[in-house]
Amino acid sequence: MDIFADAQQRLDEALKHVKLSDDAIARLRSPKANLQVSIPLRRDDGSLEIFQGYRVRYDDTRGPTKGGVRYHPGVTLGEVQSLAFWMTFKCAVLDLPYGGGKGGITVNPKELSRLELERLSRGYIDAIADFIGPDRDILAPDVYTNAMVMSWMMDQYSTIQRKFSPGVVTGKPLAVGGSQGRDTATAMGAFFTIQTLLPKYDRLPENTRVAVQGFGNAGATLAELLHKAGYKVVAVSDSKGGIYAPQGLDIPSVRAHKNATRAMEAVYCEGSVCSLRSRETITNAELLELEVDLLVPAALENQITEENAANIKAPLIFEVANGPVTAAADAILQRQGTTVFPDILVNAGGVTVSYFEWVQNRNGLYWTAEEVQDRLKARMVKETEAVWKLMQEKDIAARTAAYVHGLQRLGETIEAKGTRDYYQQG
Ligand code: GLU
Repeated sequence: MDIFADAQQRLDEALKHVKLSDDAIARLRSPKANLQVSIPLRRDDGSLEIFQGYRVRYDDTRGPTKGGVRYHPGVTLGEVQSLAFWMTFKCAVLDLPYGGGKGGITVNPKELSRLELERLSRGYIDAIADFIGPDRDILAPDVYTNAMVMSWMMDQYSTIQRKFSPGVVTGKPLAVGGSQGRDTATAMGAFFTIQTLLPKYDRLPENTRVAVQGFGNAGATLAELLHKAGYKVVAVSDSKGGIYAPQGLDIPSVRAHKNATRAMEAVYCEGSVCSLRSRETITNAELLELEVDLLVPAALENQITEENAANIKAPLIFEVANGPVTAAADAILQRQGTTVFPDILVNAGGVTVSYFEWVQNRNGLYWTAEEVQDRLKARMVKETEAVWKLMQEKDIAARTAAYVHGLQRLGETIEAKGTRDYYQQG
């Protein structure tokens, strides 16, 4: 099944549990606008290469569309649409005044030089400038894009507009209007969700073994936060493979080593003595099937599918990646009693601090790291509790509860603008 159809199945499931007007449902079924562009890139050797870029504005009922830009060889329009669909619900679940959008370029950024990457990023903005804007559609980082890329994008947009426009992109470096805490926000948000929910399962950090798939910004930061809070992070992986140590990994050393060598070879540390210790190398597929208490997919979509769902042993899954579990896998997991806390709640810390960044850009007044963290925590805990309450009240899966929660907000806004039911009654 294609990825967008798969994403839409979640809407169908949630619609069984929430009353929404036919108008609202019809509007949420298809993206508001899809833009596909060809971006010419002058390579360092002088040749010209054309790359395909996308920007999808899925729904802007609740405000300007909001979402990241992904650079990956696997980017397709269907994938970007799914990601924009998820952003729509994510923003609604967190009560952010945004709709959902997403963008991407089909490219392997690791094969480009830094200058090529800058020209490609600026070329992307040249191509989509009329489609985006601080009150229309706001960009952010996603897989393989970072603060530097956001800075180029903001700068290019400002050049085109002939005015400093920091609010068109979030996730920028602090020096060009970024927010404190944005770089760690996705992981921090996921951490608050985990901390809010685990006590409900009577789980203490020290008795909780965690496996994290993906060691990018979100995965690596979360692994470290969990490690610091006393959880036993026993396995981590990146796109090349993973490592497993049943006694627990020393995550700061793994991170330091990865940063220094770009490789996932771990140095295991205990107390003040750091030494190379035996640990197993495992594949990404093996990591997912480990005997752990908490599984955190933090890489790409479609990792847990009908092929491997029955082999998942972790009773709890927290989706830090977008769409790591397919709809078919969800059904299998539910049957075997695995609880999946969904992306649109768990990884929403990123876009929440993006929202804070945008607010700060509009006001020109910047918050301290503590202010950002306190506000993020308050929002994550509140919405996590709301989703939990819906799960209990309606006896539904966490994902369905999160969709119902978002749908209620979207429905209210659509109806406040006037639907057929309203006019027929009048
Ligand atoms: N790309 C991130 C996500 O999928 C962040 C989006 C944003 O900050 O706008 O949630």
